[in-house]
Amino acid sequence: MYITDKSGFTKETKGQRVVSDVTCPFCGSACDDIVCVVEKDPKTGNEHIKEVYNACKVGTANFLPCKGAERFTTPLWRESKKDDFEPITWDDALEKTADILLAAKHPLIFGWSETSVEAMRYGVRLTELVGGTIDGQVTHCHGPTVQAIQEVGYPTGTLGEVKNRADMIVYWGCNPLNAHARHLSRYSTYVSGFFRRHGRQERKLIVVDPRRTDTAKLADEYIQIELGSDYEIFQAMRALLNDAEVTKDPIGGVPLDTLKGLLETMKSASYGALFFGLGLTHSESKKNNVEAGIGLVQALNDHTKWQIMPLRGHYNVGGLNQVLSWLTGYAYAVNFTRGMPRYNIGEFTGVDMLARKEVDAMFNIAADPGAHIPQKAAMTMAEIPLICCDIHPTPTTELANLILPGTHDGIEAEASCYRMDGVPIHMRKVHDPPAGCKPANHVFLEELVKIVEKKLELPHVMQ
Ligand code: SF4
Repeated sequence: MYITDKSGFTKETKGQRVVSDVTCPFCGSACDDIVCVVEKDPKTGNEHIKEVYNACKVGTANFLPCKGAERFTTPLWRESKKDDFEPITWDDALEKTADILLAAKHPLIFGWSETSVEAMRYGVRLTELVGGTIDGQVTHCHGPTVQAIQEVGYPTGTLGEVKNRADMIVYWGCNPLNAHARHLSRYSTYVSGFFRRHGRQERKLIVVDPRRTDTAKLADEYIQIELGSDYEIFQAMRALLNDAEVTKDPIGGVPLDTLKGLLETMKSASYGALFFGLGLTHSESKKNNVEAGIGLVQALNDHTKWQIMPLRGHYNVGGLNQVLSWLTGYAYAVNFTRGMPRYNIGEFTGVDMLARKEVDAMFNIAADPGAHIPQKAAMTMAEIPLICCDIHPTPTTELANLILPGTHDGIEAEASCYRMDGVPIHMRKVHDPPAGCKPANHVFLEELVKIVEKKLELPHVMQ
């Protein structure tokens, strides 16, 4: 028998079903054209994804069941970190979570970039109730970008506009071919758009980076710069745009004539898009690099249309900035110790608080800081009560006292996320989570919020 979904995808099937328009819950590209073929295990009756179409290699691996990897399906508890974990019920696990967070003076509620917007809403309320600090992976990736945008704003657009209009793409300090594999083929360079019917033939691709990356190898022009010279180069280009005299040559390892040629090409575009990555946020000058890049793109808009956009990493890392901004007015590192939201980079950024040992309990969800933050900060996680919600064992769950089994939002639950351009995406459910897991992460978070509210004798106010 053949089944055909509404997009025309046809598959010969025996007891399988096809789910189309699925969103990939992996990188910030949040590709929402994925097709999954779902199969039922005749013995257990559980469904799993058998085949994945349209996703890149990394995205495909994210959908397929990971053979041999342990999946948490019941909460696990240990009093001391030297003990072995024992299974406990969800009710007991949520009671313990509430007690730990309420007993703490400075609890940190951390993570969120790989779960839903719905879950984040409850995370903000939980933080408010326990008087803690909420932060996420943004603190150690595009935090400097958020700071730069807060300082100077930014002329941006959507990936749809890039696809339909852009005739010039610049990737600066990033390597999307490795980190966001479908970015070029789905949104920027190779794809056909409404005003760019011939795709790649109508677009010029320029890569600026200290390394000749895989993306650079595809470029029409690759400009190799010295490490840490982005700020100087952006400022020199801005000066040249303003007809100022620039006497230094070369600048950041680039001959002045090359920079002048780049500027002329950028001015001649009818619609240009500059994408940047951690090459700007994590090299010398950090947020100042981003501010200078934004300044260049702002100045280019006196001549033609240009937009600038950060390549965000996790599929919903931008979602935390959005949700926190709606609810508190601040994009990350928000502290509720005084009962109202306060924001101060360095003071309330999760990694800094951990490194200074100011945190006395931590709730971590959909993140693996144990694998990514500096050792000094990770050491604190090993010393304090740590509750960790995840799907599989990670270096962070190894440090936990309590493990809550996570649900793979966007695959095992309907969910919402924000793509890297700030466009909200509805994510379709593909199949149920395994028995023992909650229907979605926001479901257990709502239960947790209600428990905390009851202990504080407060009414439940969230819809
Ligand atoms: S580019 Fe990113 S969102 Fe798209 S399929 Fe690959 S991992 Fe998933």
